[in-house]
Amino acid sequence: MQLNIQQRIEIAEAICRKQSVKLTPLRKMLLEILYEQAIPLTAYELLRLMREHNPKTEAMTVYRILSFLEEHQLVHRLHSCQAYAACNMPEHEHHAQLLLCEKCHRSEEIATPALKQSIDTILKEHSFCFSRKSIEIFGICQSCIA
Ligand SMILES: [Zn+2]
Ligand SMILES: [Zn+2]
Repeated sequence: MQLNIQQRIEIAEAICRKQSVKLTPLRKMLLEILYEQAIPLTAYELLRLMREHNPKTEAMTVYRILSFLEEHQLVHRLHSCQAYAACNMPEHEHHAQLLLCEKCHRSEEIATPALKQSIDTILKEHSFCFSRKSIEIFGICQSCIA
């Protein structure tokens, strides 16, 4: 089921309400920008797009909003490309797993329990403490192959 931007914003608002935090107009604007663009965006690109709506937006504001949205699992930070992708399933408890196309730069969020289980097993075997960053899998997406 494909949700439209308005429906996704409503879900985000409900999540914030549940956690007793507010989706302020600027937080909402940034989230809308990410929902509109199908590709992950860097903080700099987000700043540029935010300024189109609100010319006085400062870089620090964008960083603060991003860390808020990340904390509440509304966006995922992609460490390999310094970009942010909107979460596709913010209402579910999950660890972010993303497929990233090297050609069109689209990201697709997946939630594969087997992947999570394998990682948990590896972590246990190696007594390795995971920093809860997103799992990023690079390749070429279906529409770019075709
Ligand atoms: Zn997610
Ligand atoms: Zn692609």
